[in-house]
This record gives sequence, C-alpha cells and structure tokens, in this order.
Amino acid sequence: MFEATLKGQVALVTGGSRGIGRATVLALAQAGADVVLSYSSQADTRAGHPGIADATADEARALGVRALTLEADVADPASAQVMIDSTVEGLGRLDIVVNNAGIARDNLAIRMTNAEWDLVIAIDLSAAFHVCRAALKPMLRQRSGRLINVSSIAGIMGNPGQANYSAAKAGLIGLTKTLAREVGSRGITVNAVAPGFIETDMTAALGDKVLNSALGAIPLGRAGKAEDVAAAIRFLALPEAGYITGCVLQIDGGMGA
Ligand code: NAP
Repeated sequence: MFEATLKGQVALVTGGSRGIGRATVLALAQAGADVVLSYSSQADTRAGHPGIADATADEARALGVRALTLEADVADPASAQVMIDSTVEGLGRLDIVVNNAGIARDNLAIRMTNAEWDLVIAIDLSAAFHVCRAALKPMLRQRSGRLINVSSIAGIMGNPGQANYSAAKAGLIGLTKTLAREVGSRGITVNAVAPGFIETDMTAALGDKVLNSALGAIPLGRAGKAEDVAAAIRFLALPEAGYITGCVLQIDGGMGA
C-alpha cells in the first residue's frame, strides 16, 4: 500500500483513460490525489469496451479519491483552458498536471504528409504548451504546482520513421526546461519523463518485428509497463521531489544509456 502523501491535492492527466495515462491516474490516486482525466473518445473499439474513461475513474474512486472525466480533444487549443477551468471548478484547485495525451503517425520523412506532421505536432507538442500556459495561472497564484510532460526516448535519440514524433517530443524537453527556469522562483517545478518502449496500445500497433528489434536494444531485456512510467511520474509529483526541476527522467530499461 502506498502512503498517501498527495492527499488534498488535485491532478489533471490528459489522455488518462488508458495506457500510461490510466496507470498515472491510478498511481496518483494511490498516493491520495483527486484526479481529473481527460479523454478524446469514450469508445474503446480495441477492447470492445465502451466507457473506458468512466471505468478508469471508477477504479480511481475505489482507491478513495474523487475522480472526474472530461471529454476534450487536446488538438483543439481551446480545450486547454476548458480542462483547467473544469478541474478547478470540479475539484476546487489544481496542483499537478500531467501532459500525457499523445499519438504517433509514423512515416519516413520523404513520404510524410503535412497532415501527419501537423497532427503529431499539435497533439504531442502544442497541446502541452497550451495546457501548461493555462495551468500556470492558478499555480502562480497559489505559488505551487507540478507540471510533468510525457516526452519519449525518441525526443532524445532519433528514430527513423518518426520525424514528426521525435521533433514533438524533443520540443517538449525544450518547453520543460524553459518553463522550469521561468517559474522556479514561484515554487512550481516542471519536469519531463522520457519512456522507452512501453507495452500499450501505441506499441501494440507496431507489430512483432518492431517489438523484437526494440527488445534487442533494451539492456534490461524487456519492454516497460505503463506502471513503470506512472511510478516515475508520481515520484515527480511527490513532496520528496520538490528540489527537482527542468529534468528529463528516462524510463527506458537503459535503451538510451
Ligand atoms: P495510448 O495507449 O495510445 O494512449 C494515448 C492516450 O492519449 C489515450 O488516452 C488517448 O485518449 C490520448 N489522446 C490521443 N489523442 C488525443 C487527443 N487528440 N485529445 C485527447 N487525448 C488524446 O498511448 P501510450 O503509450 O499510453 O502513450 C501515452 C504517452 O506516452 C504519449 O504521449 C506517448 O507519446 C508517450 N510515450 C509512449 C511510449 C510507449 O512506448 N508506449 C514511449 C514513449 C512515450 P483516447 O483514448 O480518449 O483517444
């Protein structure tokens, strides 16, 4: 059982219904935080299980915290303010924001369409900027807050076929470091996590060939689990991590070592 050290705090997790976002919602809830999880679509066609965001919220409530779901397409810049306002109105405050929502649209650069480039930049990079900017207003007022951006090993090392994704995730690291310098004096920390190869719907879509080649590049010899990433995100939200800002924590089994 995790000691509840985030009791009384409120977290917003974008894309919190499944994968790394879901595991993060539950990890924060285990530590006592109330949570708002945003989702872009209620229909989980992969598992034939509608209402997956509601199911995740129910799991969080079963851990004894308040949990709300919020439909918000982060590709729409206006959704950022809606998510922040809804969190503060719904749960009374905002302490932790995890910019987790993300997609991949892989293609070799020579074949990559403008639409593939633009959509990944919009969801994986611009959305995090919009959400951080909106979240900073209440956090600056209360002189505390934790912003945590979910980058990727692909934002540190290049990856053929992922020019859009890699550029977006590297951009998130630049955003994280600059914000850390801008708001550190106000008691707000800004950090990124950079997962390696994690077992979720995103990587399941890549197929066995890519999985086997990725496994060969991981010193720990296994793919990561969503819970491995969630534990690192929760650590960055805890009081014990209060002196860490502007850092990129790699959760990659040594892939980037
Ligand atoms: P996933 O299982 O495919 O989940 C993606 C999440 O993002 C879903 O909750 C999805 O919500 C949400 N999302 C996508 N587009 C959205 C939009 N326009 N508006 C709102 N939410 C949206 O992926 P994952 O592996 O958990 O990835 C989570 C994050 O980790 C991403 O930022 C990803 O780039 C990063 N990451 C993953 C890996 C990996 O190996 N899996 C490695 C490095 C980094 P809906 O279900 O509502 O669509």
